[in-house]
Amino acid sequence: MIELLVETTNLPVDGREFSFDEQRIWADPIAEYHLPYRIAEPFSAMIRVVPHADGCTVEGTLRGSLFFFCDRCAEEFTYPVTAEFHEFEAYPGGDSRNNAPNDVWWVVPKDGLHYLDVAGFLWEQFQLALPEKPLCAVLCRGVCAECGANKNLDECRCAASESDSRLAAFRSMKLS
Ligand SMILES: [Zn+2]
Ligand SMILES: [Zn+2]
Repeated sequence: MIELLVETTNLPVDGREFSFDEQRIWADPIAEYHLPYRIAEPFSAMIRVVPHADGCTVEGTLRGSLFFFCDRCAEEFTYPVTAEFHEFEAYPGGDSRNNAPNDVWWVVPKDGLHYLDVAGFLWEQFQLALPEKPLCAVLCRGVCAECGANKNLDECRCAASESDSRLAAFRSMKLS
């Protein structure tokens, strides 16, 4: 993962805006973790960082699109990824109530200053915006368990015999 740090201690009180279109923020971890999707339309992010005594707020948007494989039919399709976020990043060691014990801090203290790890932060926001089970369409019909045909494309011949065999099983159950 690339290092991309924004110094947050000396920002103007109403914050500052930054934009990022460095693809390695997303492309590096995708490659590193061998994730099952790839970038279609390049990603870009806009963030506004506002400094506070015990942390900083980071709000903004993230956009791009991915090539995913459908969880049902295994066909590749384009998935638009958009995220809107508004997070408070607490400075480590502070006693802010926002500090949960398991929080991942995207703040790096260095030489008395605080830096936001933008690459880590934007990677997390990206991951939160992804679907758990990517589907090419809500009504994707998947593949036939018998012959492997993509049921979105054509009706295979198994459909008829499948219902026949189910009916047969039902009949035999009833008889026994
Ligand atoms: Zn599908
Ligand atoms: Zn079939």
